Amino acid sequence: MANITEAEIRKIVENIIKGASASKKTEWTSTEYGGRKLVGVYSDMNEAIDAAERGYKAVRAMTVEQREKIITEIRRLTREEAQIMAEIGVSETGMGRVDHKRLKHLLVADKTPGTEDIVSEAKTGDSGLTLTEMAPFGVVGAITPSTNPSETVICNSIGMIAAGNGVVFNPHPNAICTSNYAVDLVNRASALAGGPEVLVCSMDKPTLDSAAVMQSHPKIKLLVCTGGPGVVKAVLSSGKKAIGAGAGNPPVIVDDTADIKKAGKDIIDGCTFDNNLPCIAEKEVFAFANIADELIAEMQKNGAYLITKEQADKLAPIVLPEKTGKNGKTVKAVSRDCVGRDADVLLAKIGISVGKDVRCIICETGFDHDFVQHELMMPILPIVRVGNIEEAIELAVKAEHGNRHTAHMHSKNIDHLSAFAKAVETTIFVKNAPSYAGIGFGGEGHTTFTIAGPTGEGITSARSFTRKRRCVMADSFRII
Ligand code: NAD
Repeated sequence: MANITEAEIRKIVENIIKGASASKKTEWTSTEYGGRKLVGVYSDMNEAIDAAERGYKAVRAMTVEQREKIITEIRRLTREEAQIMAEIGVSETGMGRVDHKRLKHLLVADKTPGTEDIVSEAKTGDSGLTLTEMAPFGVVGAITPSTNPSETVICNSIGMIAAGNGVVFNPHPNAICTSNYAVDLVNRASALAGGPEVLVCSMDKPTLDSAAVMQSHPKIKLLVCTGGPGVVKAVLSSGKKAIGAGAGNPPVIVDDTADIKKAGKDIIDGCTFDNNLPCIAEKEVFAFANIADELIAEMQKNGAYLITKEQADKLAPIVLPEKTGKNGKTVKAVSRDCVGRDADVLLAKIGISVGKDVRCIICETGFDHDFVQHELMMPILPIVRVGNIEEAIELAVKAEHGNRHTAHMHSKNIDHLSAFAKAVETTIFVKNAPSYAGIGFGGEGHTTFTIAGPTGEGITSARSFTRKRRCVMADSFRII
């Protein structure tokens, strides 16, 4: 055997050291990451609001160009640290997929509008010039979900800062470390770009009580809430201006003019994105009976696992157990141990063992099945056979439950497409593509992780977080 050289020994030692440090897990909490204190995290909501107000005053004193520099730096750090946030997000919540969460962060970095979204209007006429400008609200109180935690914090921060606001977050308690990592990222970006050290703020232990303090605090001028029906209702009853981005249960219709091969792939790709956590993801399918077998076969080619009706009935009470509601009535609520979990993990709960190549569980059900009626947020997709477009639209609209959030359709019949779009009245309607095309991923248009259906702002962006102000110069300032 040839003698080993000194250079080779050095290389081997270097590799061992590199391997050892790579395998050393970075420690994180809601206030620290790898021994570094996270900036902008407070124990008291009143202190957090005061700090956010100082951030707001600093932003107000800046030029738009300076604000945009901070946003550019947020985008850069988000791209660089997307993998870290994706890993913490999955590790902390137990939900979703690291590879997809990384893509969601890149989408936020690249396609969340900045200051260019803020535009002024001028109206001139015989009576002079009237200017309308999009002004900041002041300090925004934002409530964020566990399903897209850091994505929402960064997306909200970019838009709210672009609009000139300060922000205090009361993030979801189950995703507090991930959310606070993002808060710290925004503050690091601010400092690097010459802005204040603390621009956006959060809590080390957010609770319903800290949310209540935020909702009633006189310094909070706008509430922005991204979450389920309970929290949206709470902020809309606060007496303050509120933007509510609530729950969805997006139906998909597939008719017999669709490209079935593409529909099968698109639906599974959209439904399994981050294990179905996005509120826009496909949640139930209404398929024309004459193409249903072919559609199911295409789905199976794309990583779907078909279970029987009996198996679906066995899985339903596991993912949707009964519990006693506030009024003492029995209700079914999604099991937090099942939301956002991999398909093979869910199948194992009913004794079916498959590999990680299975991305989605599909099953044929009736319209009344729990899988159709409840927003599951996990890769389980029920398929209901329908006889014609009228039946498809009627059932899909009912399954959407009036959320007016998101709906999808695969069809080449423009009459069918138009009829469903009109009937369902959703904020987002995606035709012949995976659901994520609706938030700018493989589709035109900007992105957001706060889709405000109930209050009407829609695909929110910087301008959604502004108030319009008018300035009138009577009888002059025209140049014609
Ligand atoms: P969730 O409703 O459990 O919690 C959202 C946030 O609200 C958390 O920070 C939680 O602590 C807080 N909260 C809950 N009840 C509250 C109350 N009464 N007062 C004050 N704060 C309260 O949401 P989740 O499970 O993390 O997210 C999933 C839900 O959010 C789904 O229904 C999904 O469709 C929806 N969602 C909607 C959008 C959108 O853009 N429309 C985006 C993401 C998630």
